Amino acid sequence: MQLRVPGPTPLPPSVREALSRDMIDHRGPEFAELLRDVTTRLKRWFQTSNDVLTLTSSGTGAMEAAVVNVLSPGDRVLAITCGAFGDRFAEIASIYGASVDRVTVSLGRAVDPAAVGEALAAGGPYKAVLVTHNETSTGITNPLAEVARVVRQTESLLVVDAISSLSSIDLQTDAWGCDVVISGSQKGWMVPPGLAMVSMSARAWEAYRTARMPRFYFDLGQAKKYLERWQTPATPAVSLYYAFQAAFELLDREGMASVLARHQRCAERVRAGVRALGLELFADPAHASNTVTSVKPPEGVEVASLRKLLRESGVVVAGGQGELTGKIVRIGHLGMISESDVDEILAALEQALSRLRAPVQA
Ligand SMILES: *Cc1c(COP(=O)(O)O)cnc(C)c1O
Repeated sequence: MQLRVPGPTPLPPSVREALSRDMIDHRGPEFAELLRDVTTRLKRWFQTSNDVLTLTSSGTGAMEAAVVNVLSPGDRVLAITCGAFGDRFAEIASIYGASVDRVTVSLGRAVDPAAVGEALAAGGPYKAVLVTHNETSTGITNPLAEVARVVRQTESLLVVDAISSLSSIDLQTDAWGCDVVISGSQKGWMVPPGLAMVSMSARAWEAYRTARMPRFYFDLGQAKKYLERWQTPATPAVSLYYAFQAAFELLDREGMASVLARHQRCAERVRAGVRALGLELFADPAHASNTVTSVKPPEGVEVASLRKLLRESGVVVAGGQGELTGKIVRIGHLGMISESDVDEILAALEQALSRLRAPVQA
């Protein structure tokens, strides 16, 4: 069975084993040591010396936390959106009362950093720029380093949704000057859903002090205060921290450079294989994601039938979201993924296509 949706992702055996451990007191010394270890390793993978807070929630909780901890109602925000998750970020800010302007990129394309510069110059100043590093709904990776360079020429905070990129695609939080960066456990980290991570720069903490959007569960100041004692304000998903520690044993043994390179190799192999089958890639090849590949089905083949046949052969892939429903399939290749997994996925795809095309050929 190959679970190849862009999260949740398959769990290594050692991670599954870690999940079966008994509970411990989340106010006791063992949990303190666990949280210290996971937090220290997260900071390395976030490539930051900023605070990294862990939240018991899905990734969307961290998106909400990123918004409500640095903004006040009425603050002007520039949201860069090139798909469903960029739209979600803009919507959260808007629901909490920010005044949101958008740079909207057509689906399947990446944002042009120059367009961000123009929007900042024409509409600014903005309190914050919201951007999705890897748009999971279309299979695009935005050129974040270049976008950051443009944003850093202004006073705006740079708030990054890196839920489906961090750990799999290079993101240099400090070197690029990202103020708030978020990720989620069930993507490249090889951990089940339920933990979200947020890094906060000194500038972001400065904004926190005057930010007036309502917050309680996701109050990162509280999280930071408790973290000083290696605790969390509310009861954490203890088992997921065990899982994280086990996943880090694997990630750190392999090393960040190797993990990133493996994702690139596997992604290239997926894209080449899909093309070799005569299929068209949906995303702009210049910015194709190394964690998720979106594929257009051939003429006359329904996405639903293709996904159903693949599922029956043991390979589970995702469909499109929103406007892209029925238009693309998305293959997740993040976390526990190897070249031989890719070959299995491609073989299943070839078989499913030949079965679906059979009546056409006849
Ligand atoms: C998965 C994902 C989310 C949402 O995360 P949930 O864990 O489903 O809440 C947000 N943004 C991106 C880029 C994602 O890939």
